[in-house]
Amino acid sequence: MENDFLINEVKGVLALDSRGNPTIKAIVKTRKGLGIGIAPSGASKSSKEAIELRDGGSKWNGLGVNIALSKLNGEIAQKLINLDSRNQSLIDSLLIVLDGTKNKSSLGGNTTTAISVAVAKAASSTSGLELYEYLGGPGSRILPTPILNIINGGVHAGNNLAFQEFILIPTGAKSFVEAMRISVEVYKTLKNVISEKYGKSATNVGDEGGYAPPLNESREAFDLIETAIKRSGYDLGNDFHLGMDAASSEFYDINKKLYRVDGKEFTSDELLDYYVSLVKEFNIIYLEDPFYEEEFDSFHNITNKIGNKVLIVGDDLYATNTKYLTKGIEMKATNGALVKVNQVGTLTETLDYVRIAKENGIIPVISHRSGDTEDSFIADLAVAIGSGIIKTGAPARSERLSKYNRLIEIEDQLGPSSRYLGIEPFIRS
Ligand code: PEP
Ligand code: MG
Repeated sequence: MENDFLINEVKGVLALDSRGNPTIKAIVKTRKGLGIGIAPSGASKSSKEAIELRDGGSKWNGLGVNIALSKLNGEIAQKLINLDSRNQSLIDSLLIVLDGTKNKSSLGGNTTTAISVAVAKAASSTSGLELYEYLGGPGSRILPTPILNIINGGVHAGNNLAFQEFILIPTGAKSFVEAMRISVEVYKTLKNVISEKYGKSATNVGDEGGYAPPLNESREAFDLIETAIKRSGYDLGNDFHLGMDAASSEFYDINKKLYRVDGKEFTSDELLDYYVSLVKEFNIIYLEDPFYEEEFDSFHNITNKIGNKVLIVGDDLYATNTKYLTKGIEMKATNGALVKVNQVGTLTETLDYVRIAKENGIIPVISHRSGDTEDSFIADLAVAIGSGIIKTGAPARSERLSKYNRLIEIEDQLGPSSRYLGIEPFIRS
């Protein structure tokens, strides 16, 4: 009997991400199925990430992907034809071997990410199962709590905020769709609050759809969000909690060993104290990349101090790589780990990372990139792994909403069997 899951076509085409930069769209077909994967792209990247293969030169400002596409349409396509699309780990291993480098710099992490995701989607489409069911099995019914970056700073915005993301967390909602409703209400009110204080031009949005007002200090950003929550009729500490991604490698002075934040210079210990005061003041329960990506000791210190109340998450620290996660586990560096498929470049390596995190009591947080696309893969991935938390930007810009809309659809499909955990994934025992 013919095997419907055999890959019979692999094709790469150019796509543009949300910043208008070229990226790779991989199209994988089986006899009865189709999978499309589009690689996203970060701005505040870790030095530990898989390398994107770019053409250089002047076209597309050096960011072209013609070399990557010719590899995809040549050697990669040849190797994948007639393989069973369900054999994700074999296919991902093949990509790793074909690449032959430690950081995917030969094929490009952008190429391998797009292909790896497209293969999973082709197999799922051939099986007739929903993607989250195909990836996670019939028990996949946990809708993640969205954490919405509604004020953008750092390298994602043109203001003076050092911290990259000021995050709204709808912890008191009873379902995913209700979480989105109350978050959208606050997001809309926040626009008015910003407009009254800083004028209409201050309500333009940054790379992830959050507002990017001309603020200089983190407290101002949290104050604005707190005001918007109250004015929308909600309660901070009950209906909502707050979070932040400091993305601190971006404002660390490696020579002086100092962090430049809010017009001051901080040592690691001083910055830790600053975080502790913000956490108390603003009901913060999520803190990502509080320290430079090599500072495992400082991560340990803050997790030791406030990890019982706050999810301390490693993003640039781990780069979705089991090697760095294992070090973090040994050092008790964090209690959360961000998950971005393109940081490591294949789905199999991502799933290994998630498994190791879970086995060690570390909460995996599924995440978009600041340069993202209409591909909603991470929504299904979040439900499949039951991560409990997804970070995919403000409720604005369709590259962010494609993920939220897919999660609303999944909740609808699951009906009464779906579960929304609200604050639960943030609570430490
Ligand atoms: C992040 O730092 O968590 C993020 C989403 O930004 P980027 O994609 O620019 O790394
Ligand atoms: Mg981050």
